[in-house]
Amino acid sequence: GVSDPWLDYQISAAKAIRESLSNIILEKQKLKIDRLNEQLLEAHDELELFSQGLSHDLKAPLRGIDGYAHILKEDHYNSLEKPGQQAVDTILSSTREMQELIDNILSFAGVSGQSLDKGIFSVNHQVEDILQSFNIKSNYPKTRIIMDKDLPRMMADKRMITQVWSNLITNALKYSEKEEAPEIEIGARGIEGKTTYYVKDNGIGFDPRHKEDIFNLFSRFSGDGYKGTGIGLAIVKKIIEKHNGRIWAESEAGKGSIFYFHV
Ligand code: ADP
Repeated sequence: GVSDPWLDYQISAAKAIRESLSNIILEKQKLKIDRLNEQLLEAHDELELFSQGLSHDLKAPLRGIDGYAHILKEDHYNSLEKPGQQAVDTILSSTREMQELIDNILSFAGVSGQSLDKGIFSVNHQVEDILQSFNIKSNYPKTRIIMDKDLPRMMADKRMITQVWSNLITNALKYSEKEEAPEIEIGARGIEGKTTYYVKDNGIGFDPRHKEDIFNLFSRFSGDGYKGTGIGLAIVKKIIEKHNGRIWAESEAGKGSIFYFHV
C-alpha cells in the first residue's frame, strides 16, 4: 500500500530474485547438513571402534580375576570360613555377569559392521538346535514348549537370525520361569502380507506403555528378581532392521508376552 503499482517486468524480477535467494539458502543448508552427516558417521564409527576396543580390553583383566577366583574355589575353598566362601562365590558370579555384559556389548557393536550373508534355511532345524543347546529339560523342567512343526523356511542371514531366536526364547524362558505352568509357543502366521514368526509366553509380561522402549539399549523393566543386561532386544532389533524387517511386541503386565518379527 506504499509503492506505486508494480509493473509486470518488476514483479517477475522480484520473483526471480526470491527464487535465487531461496536456492542459495537451500544449497547452503544442504552443504551444512551434508557436513553434519559426515561428522555423525565419523563419530558413530569412532564410538563403535571405541566400544569394541574397550570391551576387548576389559576382557583380559576379567579373565585374570575369574581364573584366580576359580583357583580359590577349587583349591582353597574348604580352608576358608563361611564369609570367605561367600566372597569367592560372589566374585565368580559377578565376573560371569560382567563377561555376559561385555559379550553383549561386543555383539551389539558388531552387528552394524557385519554385512548380511543371506541364504534359505529351515527355521524348524534352527530353533530345535537352539532349544537343544539350552538344555531345557534340566534347566527349565516345568516349562512346556509348543513349536509349530511346519515353520516356513526363511531367507535371511542364518547366523544373525539364530541370535534373534536365542534372545527371544531366552527371554520367554526367563520371564515365565516363576509361573506355575510356564508355556512357550513358537509359531508363524501371515501378518501385513508377510510370513511373521512369533514367540509367545505366559510369563510376567510388561506394561504396554514400554512396548517400544524395551528395544532400547539398557532398558529393563522387570526389577531385580530377573538377571539381565538390557542389551538382548536392542541386538535383536538391530538385526531385524538390518534385514529391513520389523519386530514388535504385545503384552499386558501379568498376562504373558508375544514377540513378532518378519524379515
Ligand atoms: P534383559 O532381558 O537382559 O533385561 P532384553 O533387552 O532382552 O534385556 O529385554 C529388555 C526388557 O524387556 C527386559 O528387562 C524385560 O523388562 C522386558 N522383556 C523382554 N522380554 C520379555 C518377556 N518375554 N516377558 C516380559 N518382559 C520381557
